[in-house]
Amino acid sequence: MTCRLKTACLVAILIATPALAVESNFNRTADEMKREIDNHLAAAQTLLDQILAVEGQRNISNTLMPMNEMSIHLDNASSKASLLGAVHPEKSVRDAADAGMQEVAKFSTALSLNRDLYEAVKSVDVSGADVETRRIVFKNLRDFRRAGVDRDDKTRARVKQLQDDIVKLGQTFSRNIAEDVRHIKLDSPSDLAGLPDDYIRDHAPGDDGKITITTNYPDAVPFMKYADSTEARRRLYEVYRKRGFPNNLETFGKLTMKRHELATTLGYNNWAEYITEDKMIGSDEAVDEFINRIAELALAPSKKDIAELVAYKRKFDPSADKIHDYESGYFAEKLKGEKFSFSSQEARPYFEFGRVRQGLLDVTGRLFKVRYEQVNNVKLWHEDVTCYDLYDGDKLLGRFLLDLHPRDGKYKHAACFTYQTGIKGKQIPINALVCNFPDPKATSGPALMEHGDAVTFFHEFGHLLHAIFAGHHDWIGISGISTEWDFVEAPSQMLEEWCWNPEVLQMFAKHHETDEPIPASMVAKMKAASDFGKATWVRQQMFYASMSLNFHNRDPVTFTSTDLMQELTAKYAPYDYVPDTYMHCSFGHLNGYSAIYYTYMWSLVIAKDMFSEFEKNGFFHEETAMRYRRAILSSGGIDDAANLVKQFLGRPYRFDAYGKWLESRAKPAS
Ligand SMILES: [Zn+2]
Repeated sequence: MTCRLKTACLVAILIATPALAVESNFNRTADEMKREIDNHLAAAQTLLDQILAVEGQRNISNTLMPMNEMSIHLDNASSKASLLGAVHPEKSVRDAADAGMQEVAKFSTALSLNRDLYEAVKSVDVSGADVETRRIVFKNLRDFRRAGVDRDDKTRARVKQLQDDIVKLGQTFSRNIAEDVRHIKLDSPSDLAGLPDDYIRDHAPGDDGKITITTNYPDAVPFMKYADSTEARRRLYEVYRKRGFPNNLETFGKLTMKRHELATTLGYNNWAEYITEDKMIGSDEAVDEFINRIAELALAPSKKDIAELVAYKRKFDPSADKIHDYESGYFAEKLKGEKFSFSSQEARPYFEFGRVRQGLLDVTGRLFKVRYEQVNNVKLWHEDVTCYDLYDGDKLLGRFLLDLHPRDGKYKHAACFTYQTGIKGKQIPINALVCNFPDPKATSGPALMEHGDAVTFFHEFGHLLHAIFAGHHDWIGISGISTEWDFVEAPSQMLEEWCWNPEVLQMFAKHHETDEPIPASMVAKMKAASDFGKATWVRQQMFYASMSLNFHNRDPVTFTSTDLMQELTAKYAPYDYVPDTYMHCSFGHLNGYSAIYYTYMWSLVIAKDMFSEFEKNGFFHEETAMRYRRAILSSGGIDDAANLVKQFLGRPYRFDAYGKWLESRAKPAS
């Protein structure tokens, strides 16, 4: 599942003092965006001056509280800019948002290196303060030290420059991907053989008599899975894996150089060592060990799956001795169709977009004892966007925005963005889901999702619920999703499980024409089909994780990224490298996640462990759900994730449930 979260700013201290009115204008012009960011920065500067001007004894109210307010201003500015920069239909607004984010990042970097501020926080005696206050001070001081605040002036100036450069290069890297939509042209409708009828209907030949298939998900994903033409799939695969190339070769090269220099300047051996230090996993060696442990666990079952695929391919091509990446989705789909008498197309009529959206709200509302109300009197950046409030009884816990269909210039993946981090008594949490699901307005019939789309929807909504439940603490660095980064995907991956349970699915997955709930036997077949190839998926994920790590755990002058990518493909990936493709140029996580793509699988290990409680007690077991909501979701960053998990499970986390999952093969109902 891909997603990106806006993580807390470097110096996670902060807060402003707006009244608890709930924002209802989510649209901006470029000028408004700029002015808003300028205002937040000016307010932050005023608070900073005020903190530094304090004379005499420092305490929570004259130092930590204004610092909290300052950080809230910065967080609000960067959150809003981050979201609108990813979704706004006007390029001028996206550009203003990007420019604003650079300004905020610059300010935050300067703060993280502000020796006077560091000394001010350090001198506050919090020994008698509550747990959350002590924790925020611990986190702030650690972040200050990791930023290099205790280095000499020259070093700090260089660190600041490097941080600024890294932000800019990262934005360029992401932009190069988002704006690089490629396509192939097909000569005749016969090249669409194998694809669903609605897809064929929606891809009529253009004026030139050719059919255009773009690299956007709704075009590319079904095509890679269903198109009978291997040649056409290979062509689409090649352009897909050339997105960002060649521009991002250079951009990423510069980015790794700057990261390496920053890490070594701060006294670390490399960027990976630096970035893993404050994660649950603790070190880059532990990441390497984790990747190899998981890749090894998955090797034998993955080989078995692939051997089965090759044998199947021989029915069509007797000389076949391997499966290529651009064939795997297609043959796996066909093989599963025969082996489990199931095609994922069969399930699509049960996943009409509107029903899935309502079903998700019904399921999570029942599970966590909350309710949702659609909000209509709000200004949004696009007519597709919808707005909801989340209530616990009569208490408003948060607001959220759903922007769920593709558009030109819009973020291409699926992600939960923070629009406003919730702070107790100051501002409610506001989050946005940004996805690219089939659009009812763009199809001639009902917008039918794949089951996998529905799973993605549940996943991202898991982040959103985490952000809203956790957004009720005093200090911004521990309110909202502020746990260790490698725990962040655990609640979202766990919520995916609800989208695999027949009783849960039957609540909303109903045939769009007949209203008949999805048969339990079909869900069993889906599950069995999904288990096929699971270990191969895990190997692929470990390939991505190893790229992410190995691009950052050494001096960048010692390797070229394309060579290393090919080397790691051979070591971890289940399929051969396809010549003249450059997947690292469009691997967007290399910006936001840098060395720590492993976090998804690490979180999955924890997610499987936490889910074992629901598996044992029931999907809607009230005590379990409320214990989970309290211990994990509502806690935000008030304690180490390992402790929160222990509080929920009544024991430390283990790998057992994950191991069991990796080995298990569901059997289709007969
Ligand atoms: Zn996620």
